[in-house]
Amino acid sequence: MEPFLHSTQSYCSVGMITFYPGPSKIYPEVAAYMQQAYQEGILSQNHRSEGFMQMLQETLTMVASKLAIPEGYEVFLVSSATECWEIIAQSFTDKGALHLHNGAFGKKWAEYDGRINEGVLSHAFESEALPDLESLTLPASDGLLCLTHNETSNGTMLPDTFLADVRERSKALIAVDATSSMAGLHLPWATADLWFASVQKCFGLAPGLAVLVASPAAISRAIALHEYDHYNSFVFIRENFQKFQTPFTPNTLGIYLLGKVMHDRQPIEHSAKLLEERAADLYSFFDSIGLHLVIESTELRSPTVLTIAMEPAELVVVKKKAREAGIILGNGYGALKESTFRIANFPAITDQEIHTLKMFFISLFQKMSRNL
Ligand SMILES: *Cc1c(COP(=O)(O)O)cnc(C)c1O
Repeated sequence: MEPFLHSTQSYCSVGMITFYPGPSKIYPEVAAYMQQAYQEGILSQNHRSEGFMQMLQETLTMVASKLAIPEGYEVFLVSSATECWEIIAQSFTDKGALHLHNGAFGKKWAEYDGRINEGVLSHAFESEALPDLESLTLPASDGLLCLTHNETSNGTMLPDTFLADVRERSKALIAVDATSSMAGLHLPWATADLWFASVQKCFGLAPGLAVLVASPAAISRAIALHEYDHYNSFVFIRENFQKFQTPFTPNTLGIYLLGKVMHDRQPIEHSAKLLEERAADLYSFFDSIGLHLVIESTELRSPTVLTIAMEPAELVVVKKKAREAGIILGNGYGALKESTFRIANFPAITDQEIHTLKMFFISLFQKMSRNL
């Protein structure tokens, strides 16, 4: 019989170490949990059954507790971060949001919003500086402000102090795309009303599921707007989740795996600290071997996605050598595709793997007689 789906060179086989910032390395325990999900029969259960409802409830509780989500904030599961962009545009505003962005993901979110709503304002800022809040007119209390916590395309992050400052200055609802930081960093939840992330980044899981967190103020706004036009209208999703059900047949396997993996995790305060230390070490390592860090501001550098510059011709060689050594470096994104590579510093990646990465660069640069 002809093989149907088989590995090709373009896949990252299990023996390889991937530093791609999404889809990224998944926790190895997932293999056994998938088997367990099959054996428990949960995958054939109706999503209105007791078994499913209990499993969903346990997963939501686990996410809220491990990520230290504040009392009163509610957790929902949908399909992707992209879907969250759309849910927020549909269900939390009827006047068009202000988007502040410095990279490809934030910009794309503003574009999606602009196709759904009129009056969307899109403000781009530099990757080496924060937006000047003095000179911006922030939305009023009935408005919506959209931010990207960790811009995966260029490796920048909004510091907690900036988010707190925005919160001080505006009574608007604040929505934050935290796709490449949630479950990696300890998010300052109270500084925003809507936070979301898909699970193929810091959660260390396979794609096809996203976590959406809503504050009491966000929930009140959605209830007041009473938007029921879509299968994924927020109020409709919430009514289902209050019964531990979902509006449509969900990604049961993804939800099950999320619960299992979160159960195994340390509380976020602890794991975030380790991740930040590892990021600092990695940045100084790349700097010490003479590579140029794309983001120069240490305050704005992301601890979870590192962007490193290289001559395009040399980068081609380095990526090829890395592959031969069993290492996949993340490609650059958008305009930076040919001249940068990205390294995911996500929790599922082990210290040993980071060590292997460093050793690879040291030995390669010695062979290439690159000045160290
Ligand atoms: C990866 C990513 C997305 C898109 O996630 P999907 O699961 O493909 O919808 C959105 N925003 C940011 C910041 C991301 O890193």
